[in-house]
Amino acid sequence: MSDNIQSYQGSCHCGQVTFTATLDLATAVRCNCSICRRKGTPMIATESFQLTSGEDSLSRYQFNTKAAKHYFCNNCGIYTHHNPRSNPALTRVNAGCLEGVDPLTLECGLVDGASFTVVDL
Ligand SMILES: [Zn+2]
Repeated sequence: MSDNIQSYQGSCHCGQVTFTATLDLATAVRCNCSICRRKGTPMIATESFQLTSGEDSLSRYQFNTKAAKHYFCNNCGIYTHHNPRSNPALTRVNAGCLEGVDPLTLECGLVDGASFTVVDL
């Protein structure tokens, strides 16, 4: 795998939800599916993901096939991570939640989620 996998601390805006994730910033993607276009943030697939606080503050949102699980802080409303329909064992995180990472400077791949038959990235 990539040499660029590193461990990052992440949090929602209010700080109730925190996590540790190992990931490669070079794998950031943007997607134009119905939910991602509204969130508008780059997302990064993780090698490992560990919630370190805030389990009680997390709300889960599911739609369509309800296979994907989208999580957000129920205090500040920030999307922190999700498990995609295509691979429920995988966790993708909000690049904007990562400590020391400016999501605006990330080179992002583009996922044309809007063209998928059942959109639920
Ligand atoms: Zn929060």
